[in-house]
Amino acid sequence: MKQRKIPLRKCTGCQEMKNKKELIRIVRGEEGTFSFDPTGKKAGRGAYICANADCLAKAQKSKGLERSFKSPVPKDVYESLMKELLTGVESIGERNE
Ligand SMILES: [Zn+2]
Repeated sequence: MKQRKIPLRKCTGCQEMKNKKELIRIVRGEEGTFSFDPTGKKAGRGAYICANADCLAKAQKSKGLERSFKSPVPKDVYESLMKELLTGVESIGERNE
């Protein structure tokens, strides 16, 4: 079996390098809105995070998203991402490219 190179990305929360497919992309659009990008195809600056609430909480605590986006991330952004993560994580995992 040929080994393919797995694209790795760093989680903004736990700082671990993981298979890109295990992480969710968070993207900042042109209007400064933040959203999850399960397809990885949205335009804008992106950051990656594990699909779990712990890592999002860690990212909030360590200001991981602020560092990734080099801009302030309002608390309500974290809150709505958290909500979306808790309600939509299954559909994210099942999405195909
Ligand atoms: Zn993580």
